[in-house]
Amino acid sequence: MRLRLRLESSEPLSDSVRNLRFELLAPRVFDYAPGQAIDLLVPTASGLVLKRPYSIASAPGRAGPNRVDIAVTRVPAGPVSTALHALGVGSVLDAEGPRGGFLWPPEERNVPTLFIAAGTGLAPLRAMLQDELNRTNGPRLTLLFGCRGQPNILWARELTSWVDRIPRFELAVTLSRPDAAWTGLTGYVQNHVVHRVARLRPSLAFVCGLTPMIEQVSERLMTAGLPRRSIRTEDYGPV
Ligand SMILES: Cc1cc2nc3c(=O)[nH]c(=O)nc-3n(C[C@H](O)[C@H](O)[C@H](O)COP(=O)(O)OP(=O)(O)OC[C@H]3O[C@@H](n4cnc5c(N)ncnc54)[C@H](O)[C@@H]3O)c2cc1C
Repeated sequence: MRLRLRLESSEPLSDSVRNLRFELLAPRVFDYAPGQAIDLLVPTASGLVLKRPYSIASAPGRAGPNRVDIAVTRVPAGPVSTALHALGVGSVLDAEGPRGGFLWPPEERNVPTLFIAAGTGLAPLRAMLQDELNRTNGPRLTLLFGCRGQPNILWARELTSWVDRIPRFELAVTLSRPDAAWTGLTGYVQNHVVHRVARLRPSLAFVCGLTPMIEQVSERLMTAGLPRRSIRTEDYGPV
């Protein structure tokens, strides 16, 4: 489906990630499932309009009526991410979507589930969790989230509020470059997969990030006993 979007706000989530909130101008009603993405058609510095997929980072309705959040990491020398970081509020973009089969259907929501993300890989998982955590009762859900340093923990206040309010939600943040004051997990998410599986005993896992992380995490999930069919992945591309 062809979409037309207007940038309503652009806020930093960290030094390299911005949250772009778009209002849908057409069509006004837009059906998508948490976990899906849209293709943005973005005018870039070279004069070319380039198309790139971005996960929708908000559950339907959670960014406001007819609105979606998109979290964009600025990739050095990346034409589209650079253009999106510079996009002015009020700009109008064409887009296509929704797209993708990275989905968590209702019939699969009654088992302990492990979510694993690095950086903006959290975006589709945030949409899924915003949707599911409306439901007070349900199985245990664990998010293992890898970030560079403490200032790179995306949506930190929202994640903390879930921990405080929702006993069945567990958060484990691991930092690859922690400062001296950090007392939590350290290193890449890959290193903590086996331990988390042993603790949660998940029947399902959702993994999102760059290709090397997806491959290593999937391998460790399988080593820890999770069958391939229970591992759902969204791959943002090679490093
Ligand atoms: C289904 C899907 C959903 C995606 N959702 C998001 C999203 O929600 N947020 C987001 O920031 N990106 C997302 N991406 C990546 C996005 O589509 C672009 O690849 C990215 O913005 C780089 O585009 P570019 O034109 O700036 O740089 P390019 O020149 O196209 O890419 C430069 C390099 O950056 C790598 N790269 C891509 N994404 C990232 C990233 N997030 N962090 C670090 N390096 C990266 C690419 O693999 C490539 O090697 C998604 C990709 C896919 C396939």
